[in-house]
Amino acid sequence: MRASRFFISTLKEAPSEAEIVSHKLMMRAGMIKRLGSGIYTYMPMGLRVIRKVEAIVREEMNRAGAIELLMPVVQPAELWQETGRWDKMGPELMRVKDRHGRDFAIQPTSEEVVTDVVRTEIKSYRQLPVNFYHIQTKFRDERRPRFGLMRGREFTMKDAYSFDRDAEGLQRSYQVMFDAYVNIFTRFGLQFRAVAADNGAIGGSGSHEFHVIADTGEDALVYCPNSDYAANMEAAEAVAPAVPRAAAAQPMTKTPTPGKARCEDVAKLLGVPLTQTVKSLVLMVEKEEDGKVTKQAWLLLLRGDHELNEVKAAKVPGLANFRFASEAEIVEWFGTPPGYLGPIGTKKPISVVADRTVAAMSDFICGANEVDFHLTGVNWGRDLPEPAVFDLRNVVEGDASPDGKGALAIQRGIEVGHVFQLGTRYSEDMKATFLDENGKPQLLQMGCYGIGITRILGAAIEQNFDERGIIWPASLAPFEIVLCPMGYDRNEAVRAEADRLYGELTAAGIDVILDDRGERPGVMFADWELIGVPHRIVIGDRGLKEGKLEYQGRRDTEATAVAMGDAVAFVK
Ligand code: ATP
Ligand code: MG
Ligand code: MG
Ligand code: MG
Repeated sequence: MRASRFFISTLKEAPSEAEIVSHKLMMRAGMIKRLGSGIYTYMPMGLRVIRKVEAIVREEMNRAGAIELLMPVVQPAELWQETGRWDKMGPELMRVKDRHGRDFAIQPTSEEVVTDVVRTEIKSYRQLPVNFYHIQTKFRDERRPRFGLMRGREFTMKDAYSFDRDAEGLQRSYQVMFDAYVNIFTRFGLQFRAVAADNGAIGGSGSHEFHVIADTGEDALVYCPNSDYAANMEAAEAVAPAVPRAAAAQPMTKTPTPGKARCEDVAKLLGVPLTQTVKSLVLMVEKEEDGKVTKQAWLLLLRGDHELNEVKAAKVPGLANFRFASEAEIVEWFGTPPGYLGPIGTKKPISVVADRTVAAMSDFICGANEVDFHLTGVNWGRDLPEPAVFDLRNVVEGDASPDGKGALAIQRGIEVGHVFQLGTRYSEDMKATFLDENGKPQLLQMGCYGIGITRILGAAIEQNFDERGIIWPASLAPFEIVLCPMGYDRNEAVRAEADRLYGELTAAGIDVILDDRGERPGVMFADWELIGVPHRIVIGDRGLKEGKLEYQGRRDTEATAVAMGDAVAFVK
């Protein structure tokens, strides 16, 4: 590719809405362009990376025996009604009507459609096992789209669906996909970890998430450095003791007066990165009367939203006495309705959060996780119980690993893939059967396997960047190497050597871009460092006279002189 015939559009500053490094750098490098909340145009530079991700995924899926098809983005509501998900999915499912008033879903995933395919296409056990996949646009009306491609509303996912005749077959198909995922993430050149995940509401018998390790990740991963034990926090907590642990009391530092606090403060207090949805908690302590517990600790956990009906019970497994608090109870406990502290009359009711390690009941923080919408040190206007001290986490660093092989460690991750044993969850509802050897109909055993294609870009950058820009792993880079001729537009010798080398690299099958824009060296270098091309060769008049070029890897601090004839071998 010649830069003059490509489209390059870089920015010095990232737009203010970009919060995390990957979002900022993708915007600055001209990889994506925002069209609306969570909706982006993949610009030519970004699309090249997406295509590289897709190519690796496709290759490994094919190698693992999965078969590509392409299912529609717009799907009839009837299918979603068959499995009950039309109602269950709630507002995340984008719905549209056609001119006849018929309902359609814009697919957030394709279990229904693929099950419809197999229930008509798969007739006999002889056709099994089979695994269909596609790489297709998804739409999820996320409550809080953010971080660019990381949590978009429109995004690209690879989703695969395996069908087997029995549970053992499903196990095998699942293992094949698990192994394929290990290959895929290894080929991406990213640091990742597979963790056991909670099956949650979907049911079924097994699930793993693949996470790219990054401090800005939204998920906490629990693992044992001495063994294979690894689980996401939800799954780890599900098997952890249900008792809230005592934590050291901290002195109250603020006088409880209502006031505004910034997002940063709340995040700091909760001990989570600012970029993460601050989980909001309402806590009610146990009251001991005559040595008897008369009221237990109730806990509300809201994930960055303020609607009680969206509270996720599943996110605090292991807490035996967990349930949703009603609005009446909140009034009873706190002497104020949940909406009382709403940020300037907007979203209601507001969550009330306490420190994760709750220092003192009377030192509440309430927050909406929006800039300048946090109130700290709220005085509840009535006597509160004695400061009660809890650590709300069921699993903390240093806890014994469930396998007894050492102490647990915790790190943060970005969920980039998810494999799931669904069993007959969908085939039952949709009557997807095959005929066994005896001609008897049996339910298909199903597995599903997703990879967030576009999310990979953000995750890769969160792991690979410096102050100058992105550092793509070679397998994902939009171009593997950039040729920077000094004075392409005016120096005959430089132009001739640049063109020659460009031809040679192209012929060697290397994904090369020749910067023939005639930009000043400073501009050229800054652009390509921002864009994150892993290899750069500078062709200058002085070097040419000595038969030399300058090579610099994106992580190198200095350039190396390379003999003209050796350049191709050097890059390879
Ligand atoms: P999350 O927990 O981040 O919301 P999920 O568990 O809802 O993700 P899955 O249903 O497991 O997502 O979908 C498979 C994969 O699709 C995820 O592992 C993730 O990589 C990707 N993905 C999900 N939601 C989004 C999104 N809003 N934007 C980009 N990628 C996404
Ligand atoms: Mg989700
Ligand atoms: Mg998830
Ligand atoms: Mg998932």
